[in-house]
Amino acid sequence: MTLWSVLLGAVIWLAQGAPPPAYSIPAIREPHHDVKLENRYVRVLDVTVPPYDSTLIHIHENPYVYVSIGPATLKAQVLGSSEFSDLILKDGEVRFSPVVTHRVGNIAATPFRNITIQIQGRDDTQPANAPAAAPAKANGSSPVVDNDLITVDRLVLDPGESTGLHTHGRSSLLVAVHEGAIRLDREPTPAIRLTMRPGEFEWHTGPVSHSLTNVGSTRFQAIEVVWK
Ligand SMILES: [Zn+2]
Repeated sequence: MTLWSVLLGAVIWLAQGAPPPAYSIPAIREPHHDVKLENRYVRVLDVTVPPYDSTLIHIHENPYVYVSIGPATLKAQVLGSSEFSDLILKDGEVRFSPVVTHRVGNIAATPFRNITIQIQGRDDTQPANAPAAAPAKANGSSPVVDNDLITVDRLVLDPGESTGLHTHGRSSLLVAVHEGAIRLDREPTPAIRLTMRPGEFEWHTGPVSHSLTNVGSTRFQAIEVVWK
């Protein structure tokens, strides 16, 4: 299918104000969504939409954050609306979404991929009245999202660079945006070395003190999502 036929199709779709189908399905049943991890705190969905393809209308029954693996040019439609909104994402861009039922179409010539991190529950590994941990002070990190559910920080480590030892007071998820060779020191377990490809992730239940060191030859970029 050519870009022009897709655009023409979108124009006709828009002009007709096509009402969305009356049905919708959970995101975990939507064929472009691949469930990679599920527990009481998190559901990780690896989402790929080929060029000029679209998801079915699907339900995210909990709030989520997503990180775009590569840039994307999308059209999104929320159930019940005849409007399409533009969704232009930069490589590594992170956004938060409340509960939503929607569909997303990829109008670019390249596949769209993201990692969707759905917040399934609050972290209950610590007493509710436990004092909040001091904020993580990882070298190379900068905040991108901070709300009442989670924080998200972006990590950028040049070859040889390390975050230094830092602590997350609650459960956390590390998601690679760009490939990297990483040494992960997690007290008190021995250090491990891992190659993380884009979209690969490491989950940790409960508090953790760790450091990440880029032992590869290219700049490593990742995000860290920490529960509240
Ligand atoms: Zn960390």
